[in-house]
Amino acid sequence: SKRWSHVQKGPEDPILGVTVAFNKDTSPSKINLGVGAYRDDNNKPYVLEAVKKAEKKIFEANVDHEYAPIVGVASFNNAAAVLALGEDNSYIKEKKITTVQTISGTGALRVAAEFFGRFLPGVTAYVPNPTWGNHNVIFADSKVPVKSYSYYNPSNCGLNFEGMIKDIQAAPAGSIILLHACAHNPTGVDPTHEQWKKISQVCKEKEHFVLFDFAYQGFASGSPEEDAYAVRLFVEDGHLIGLCQSFAKNFGLYGERIGAFSLLANSAEEAAVLESQLKILIRPMYSNPPVYGARVVSSILSNKELTQQWRSEVKLMADRIIDMRTSLVKYLKQHGSTKDWSHITNQIGMFCFTGLTPEQVDRLASEFHVYLTRNGRISIAGITSKNVEYLAKAIHSVTK
Ligand code: PMP
Repeated sequence: SKRWSHVQKGPEDPILGVTVAFNKDTSPSKINLGVGAYRDDNNKPYVLEAVKKAEKKIFEANVDHEYAPIVGVASFNNAAAVLALGEDNSYIKEKKITTVQTISGTGALRVAAEFFGRFLPGVTAYVPNPTWGNHNVIFADSKVPVKSYSYYNPSNCGLNFEGMIKDIQAAPAGSIILLHACAHNPTGVDPTHEQWKKISQVCKEKEHFVLFDFAYQGFASGSPEEDAYAVRLFVEDGHLIGLCQSFAKNFGLYGERIGAFSLLANSAEEAAVLESQLKILIRPMYSNPPVYGARVVSSILSNKELTQQWRSEVKLMADRIIDMRTSLVKYLKQHGSTKDWSHITNQIGMFCFTGLTPEQVDRLASEFHVYLTRNGRISIAGITSKNVEYLAKAIHSVTK
């Protein structure tokens, strides 16, 4: 039958391509800097002790496997909002917020995009240039027009703040502005507190709707509160934000697909109206979310001791990432590189835009068995105390 003969093979995901090339390489010194998941100093996936303890409690409680409501596990939704917005946030206290559990951060963005497609028809979403590749596709698939605003400045591997402000100002009033709350992916470049204040003010003046993508709370600085700075500032400034949360990185629950989408509202009544429409939208997509990750996160965040343990473990992950940045720069200098590598330590989070050219990236692979995407992005999670010096030598070699 010729039924599918018009379907053509699609392109591979560029990040998966890196791992394919890495897996084929038989060198013992090979390094994969394409991974989007945390690795410990032995290059192994890390299961948090807080998660193991929560899992044990859940197992011992002999829970059933009934469906969750369409909006997910209520105790999780509340805990997620409190973690992002803070203990005494008035929107939570006065129920001027709706939070629905989602299929991790991607699902939160998808629910958000579907909601905008339906209730803000034709309104353009502006995403940073560059941004996490999935943002563009998610909006496009949900029929939300998407454009970008200036973000990265390649000349200093930092923020193009003037360009960003100009573009946000030039966007039609009432546009959707997507902001990475912390640990910008793929650049690792975040605005300073002062810059966030200005961004908030400009978005306010233009009556833009601000959607935060919050995929790394605690994972960037080691402090969930510090990482929530921008989100809480915008809320204080009176923005009725949308918020997409992921618990993949900060709880190490990647495959459990646990996330949340929240919308702030003018009143408790309005929040209930918004929630009713979110339910109508979710029901035909996946009916209701999986419960396991929600149980793990909520049992950690509802228990003082486990919360404390989680906080120390998320800090441990963040600190290792920060250490590897420092260490990489130290070895680059030690092996004679005179280039300015300060952006490596100025940037934050799992990813770093090194400024390496596609040709240099190709040489790293062919001559040194070091694999990364051709845009020069490295995942710091792939660096360990054992391979960092080798990596520094390799980078120095291709950049001198
Ligand atoms: N947003 C950003 C910026 C991300 O980097 C990620 C993870 N790569 C996500 C959202 C969502 O990931 P997940 O669906 O695994 O939570």
